[in-house]
Amino acid sequence: MNEHILVCVAWPYAKSSTHVGQIVGAYLPADTFARYHRMAGNHVLMVSGSDEHGTPILVDAERQGITPREFVTRYHRQICEVWEKIGISWDLYTETGTANHYRITQDFFLTLYEKGYIFKDSMQSAYCPTDRRFLPDRYVEGTCPLCGYTGARGDQCDNCGHTLDPVDLIDPKCRLCGSKDSQKGALNRVEMHMTEHFFLDLPKLQESLQQWLSEGKEFWRPNTLAFAMNWLKDGLRPRAITRDLDWGVPIPLEGYEDKRIYVWFDAVIGYYSATVEWAEKQGTPEAWKTWWVPGQAEPPVKPYYFIGKDNIPFHTIIWPAMLIGYGNRNLPYDVPANEFMTMSGAKASTSRGNVIWTHEVLEQYGADTLRYYLSATAPEGRDTDFTFDEMLRRNNDELVAAYGNAVHRTLTFLQSKLEGIVPQPQVLRDADRKILAEVERGFELVGRNIELCHFKDGLNAAMAVARAANRYLDEQAPWKQIKADREAAGTTIYVMLQIISGLRILFCPYLPFSSQKLHGHLGFEGDVSKEHWQLREVPAGTKLPVPTPLFPKLELPAAV
Ligand SMILES: [Zn+2]
Ligand SMILES: [Zn+2]
Repeated sequence: MNEHILVCVAWPYAKSSTHVGQIVGAYLPADTFARYHRMAGNHVLMVSGSDEHGTPILVDAERQGITPREFVTRYHRQICEVWEKIGISWDLYTETGTANHYRITQDFFLTLYEKGYIFKDSMQSAYCPTDRRFLPDRYVEGTCPLCGYTGARGDQCDNCGHTLDPVDLIDPKCRLCGSKDSQKGALNRVEMHMTEHFFLDLPKLQESLQQWLSEGKEFWRPNTLAFAMNWLKDGLRPRAITRDLDWGVPIPLEGYEDKRIYVWFDAVIGYYSATVEWAEKQGTPEAWKTWWVPGQAEPPVKPYYFIGKDNIPFHTIIWPAMLIGYGNRNLPYDVPANEFMTMSGAKASTSRGNVIWTHEVLEQYGADTLRYYLSATAPEGRDTDFTFDEMLRRNNDELVAAYGNAVHRTLTFLQSKLEGIVPQPQVLRDADRKILAEVERGFELVGRNIELCHFKDGLNAAMAVARAANRYLDEQAPWKQIKADREAAGTTIYVMLQIISGLRILFCPYLPFSSQKLHGHLGFEGDVSKEHWQLREVPAGTKLPVPTPLFPKLELPAAV
């Protein structure tokens, strides 16, 4: 039976373009997953959008002398351009600035409030007298009360991983005016001001969360599950969901006109509001229910959340808690969080200037080279490292030398010796049947690994088929066969064409651009991503076009 796969992907902050760490962390695995499931005949809905709220956006817009709306529109457009160029196959990529998102966020807020999961209280909030504004948590820096790390931020300690509140910090300072100050290290001390806010009553939802997380989560990535369980073990605390701001979703209650819903609260609701927007745009406004209301789909919907590890608490604790509190909504099925990818050994950070912008790599090297390298080195269970040398080496030694070579040798032989016409095979020999069985097994292996979110293993399984194809071609040696037995050479090339037709599909979730190109080289029309997850024959007698190489061989930088 066809499954319902909801692919939710972290919402990038509309504050910069995207860098390769983000691509490998969430977007590429999600896209590979969605592409595969569509080809496997499942119903797929993949949604996300730009997260446009929060103080950091206000601050940056102010610095650039433009309105926050102009600011986020600029970056939303840049982010969308990257999706287009790298081939992320969204069903909907939207933004949190829509009227639909405001309406649904306010509905979540009111429903949780009326059900008693949101309450009002006064709190100490970090206020910078120099900037004359309340500060977002991450703009407050101080010493972690748990581990003593001096660079802890108001929302989290990067050293011990605990989430924090600015009032927890010892000696809290303002990073906002600190970064403007020329004298480094002389950060201004922040003041704590009392202000009234709304809180999500997480302790009330702790038990339900505990039960949900302890049932059938064995297939989750161990780090993700351990992280979530640790959070629960510490005991949940109420969490503020409003802020003293004038940028964001307004609070749907009278008397709070100078406050807004806190950005994290509205951003996670984006998965839900995007589905509603998608349904409306489809002309089937009720269709969102299939994806969110239990019992509306058979078999039940599996919602997957593709995120980086810094987002684990929001997707394994807070968002599920909001859904449980709201009532009768589908909870996450899996949260395949990735670890981090460092950049030449260092943590990627815009302030350090070692961020690698996706659009720059795409312009220079093309989408599939980047997609291949990131998929092959993805930080699935542990952190990995990005280097350009390694990307070029893998492009040349793996993509070009294995997959590209199997394709190119077959297609050029067909043109030079067989007039470009797919030969009629003789009775298949043992070796032919063996290699074709290996391709069939490839479909099982690659598919199963992608289903389990083991994307590297899936890619390796596809590459193993490409290598087997090269070995088969070397053993059969049609360039020798043709001298004694033209039909034997024809059969070999026929079999090779079937194998590369298989490779075209096996690699398609990972490398959609080269698969599309190969699709045309094999005489097929239309969109390769509409193909089924199976071997499709390249029929004998078809005249195939003259091919060009699938991948460019890239020049390695000269050794210094
Ligand atoms: Zn700490
Ligand atoms: Zn300040």
